[in-house]
Amino acid sequence: MFDSIARQITNQALHLHGFQVTLRRLDQVHPQISGNKFFKLKYNFLEAQRLGFKKLLTFGGAYSNHIAATAFAAQQFGFGSVGIIRGEELQDKLLNPTLQTAQDLGMQLHFVSREDYRRKQQVQFLNELEQQFPEHYVIPEGGTNNFAIQGCREILTVADQQFDLICCAVGTGGTITGLIDASQPHQQVLGFSALKGAFLNEDIAKLTRKTNWQITDNYCCGGYAKTTPELMQFIQQFEADHDVPLEQVYTGKMLFGLTDLLQKGHIPAETEILVIHTGGLQGRKA
Ligand SMILES: *Cc1c(COP(=O)(O)O)cnc(C)c1O
Repeated sequence: MFDSIARQITNQALHLHGFQVTLRRLDQVHPQISGNKFFKLKYNFLEAQRLGFKKLLTFGGAYSNHIAATAFAAQQFGFGSVGIIRGEELQDKLLNPTLQTAQDLGMQLHFVSREDYRRKQQVQFLNELEQQFPEHYVIPEGGTNNFAIQGCREILTVADQQFDLICCAVGTGGTITGLIDASQPHQQVLGFSALKGAFLNEDIAKLTRKTNWQITDNYCCGGYAKTTPELMQFIQQFEADHDVPLEQVYTGKMLFGLTDLLQKGHIPAETEILVIHTGGLQGRKA
């Protein structure tokens, strides 16, 4: 399914503060199934198909790249889809572009309170959803499960052994776990968290036994989807200097963080760096 619609991904060479940086443009893999979500959904869709499901159900916030990607992929491959969306109050409002597009693609939107949304992994809540939406293949929030991790291993190839450091943005941790799995022992994987908190370290430690990774939330700019004027200014400048589109929730914060570490001399000279552009441009703020 997914392999037939994948487009060519380029590696863009960047010079950042004396370092050679290779930017892997996953944002190019598909215009609607963007970036890492392409890799995260691939084996989930194959599994849903293998098990004979005709419909999918998943979870996300109002601006979720995962919701946008799932809605498109479901339509493309002939599945029905339901999106459980955080925020009951959105129900009576005009849909934002992410949700409007998802709905136009045929996704049924089901709004739940923030309180209920927090129960998204609890058996009882999932059972309630099962009653309401029977026979749906369930993909967890952000698409993260073992099938997602399997897909994200394919972001790295055997030709990537030359790199010493691999960087990516982190939300639920599925993508970085795939990268860690596929990395070599001599490589370090550094994740820039889009949210505040150490819980991600525990989450990821549960998913992998390897130890050649680290996550920093020093550049989350106050929390998920929060921004600062410095971040927004950095993004604007970076886009202009390197002709790379970024967004403010994930990739902007990652490159903001990496640039700061390079500038402050926290990364040894000559380190060969691979940076994963995870896409997400549908959620870009103008
Ligand atoms: C969803 C997303 C991430 C986070 O991926 P996880 O696997 O949840 O850690 C990073 N970057 C972009 C652009 C995303 O859309």
